Amino acid sequence: MPNTALQNTEITFASLNLAQPLMRAIADAGYTKPTPVQAQAIPMVLAGGDLLAGAQTGTGKTAGFTLPILHLLTAKPIANQRPGRPRCLILVPTRELAAQVEESVQTYGKYLPLKSMVMFGGVNINPQMKALRGQVDILVATPGRLLDHVGQKTLDLSGVEILVLDEADRMLDMGFIRDIKKILVLLPKQRQNLLFSATFSDEIKTLSDGLLHNPGYVEVARRNSTVELISQSIHHVPQKLKSYLLAHLIKHNDWKQVLVFTRTKHGANRLTEKLIADGIPAAAIHGNKSQPARTKALAQFKDGTMPVLVATDIAARGLDIDQLPHVVNFELPNVPEDYVHRIGRTGRAGSSGAAISLVDKEEQPFLRDIERLIKREIPVVTVDSFVPPANLPAEAPRPPRQAHGQRRNSGQRTAGAGNRNRPPREGQTRDGQSQRQKPRNPQQLPRNPQQREQPRNSTHATKPRPPQKTADQQHLSEAARHQAMPQPALFSPKPSVRRPR
Ligand code: AMP
Repeated sequence: MPNTALQNTEITFASLNLAQPLMRAIADAGYTKPTPVQAQAIPMVLAGGDLLAGAQTGTGKTAGFTLPILHLLTAKPIANQRPGRPRCLILVPTRELAAQVEESVQTYGKYLPLKSMVMFGGVNINPQMKALRGQVDILVATPGRLLDHVGQKTLDLSGVEILVLDEADRMLDMGFIRDIKKILVLLPKQRQNLLFSATFSDEIKTLSDGLLHNPGYVEVARRNSTVELISQSIHHVPQKLKSYLLAHLIKHNDWKQVLVFTRTKHGANRLTEKLIADGIPAAAIHGNKSQPARTKALAQFKDGTMPVLVATDIAARGLDIDQLPHVVNFELPNVPEDYVHRIGRTGRAGSSGAAISLVDKEEQPFLRDIERLIKREIPVVTVDSFVPPANLPAEAPRPPRQAHGQRRNSGQRTAGAGNRNRPPREGQTRDGQSQRQKPRNPQQLPRNPQQREQPRNSTHATKPRPPQKTADQQHLSEAARHQAMPQPALFSPKPSVRRPR
């Protein structure tokens, strides 16, 4: 689907001098103008230089490198190309991103004779081996499975002319640096290198310094700057009631497409089961799911047959789902930037989207960090029509939260903690959580729901903040008035009190 919000540049595709078959594919895709990252990156890549680009999913970055690569490879055909010897290698952190990038290569290269292939773990290796016995011009791969093929001598990387590291920051985050280094030594020294990253950390700087020669530099607006398009809201709700409130919100508002973020894979499964039991079709997507299950869930979510997709942060990375109407943070992320990434899934293409966060008392510090990052307070809303169930089933204790700001690859969240240098392989617990469990503070979930979540009379609080209502909530409270529902204390529209910042 063309992303109209991205078409804000004066440069035209015609002025970029791309080959005619590419122009036809661009026209078929409905793109009328290059996005900012495309307008800047395409000429630099066509000129043959290295490139360092700061761009996230959603900016049109994939076409930004795919189009000029297809052009360059077509312009310089090679005779007698050996099977299983790609001319371009695109490394990506996740299976989903690999599948999407390769789909883009096919979309833009559909009128060209070039052959592409996608390669990732978690699926049978044999079909990949078979494909490598034929021509492969562009290989899109995750590092782990790629090295498996190298080990089995089914892949020859000595013919790579162009290397792309896509979402390089995510790859480093996920502990791929050693795999990347192993791959780099297998490539010819003379080649063009393109590095795409959403953030420029010190690690990315070190990587790019060692990899890129005199690179061109492109940086386009981060999602943080488009946060204004998104209607954000918070519901203060104890963890135990979140699934009930979410089911209520989905049903009551007739939400058709909701991406829900949970902190753990286990939590994603549990929530999915609860929603299904409540009559809401839902699927979980995370690292423990088989690739066919993930692909199926994503396809159903995209085509609208599955209204709810429950995902962990890592599984959701790189998913290109445009114009999502609703994103729900079932739990707040402990890294504030992840909040921005999550809610950036909605409000794209100039359309307004809603990001709803369900916030337990324990998550207040995360909320403060997020609000500091986005430089705004997120309105607290109440759901007058929601009545918590009287008899809640007992729940297993939850694992302890990480200290806020702690990166996911430090400490216990990464599989094989204590050995940061050993990258987890695909299909392993990249988004794994600590298995250690600690009983929750019994104070937090009093048995009687009427006693839960009174307005915050924090001793630090000085400034009461009246709850605001989003359009959805306006609708909700009107419905509630209609129904003259009893108002449980938990969701009574009393002012919530926040610390001054
Ligand atoms: P990406 O950042 O590569 O994941 O792309 C995000 C979305 O933007 C994809 O759905 C593309 O189809 C779409 N897109 C890419 N280039 C353009 C363009 N020039 N005009 C409109 N939409 C685009």
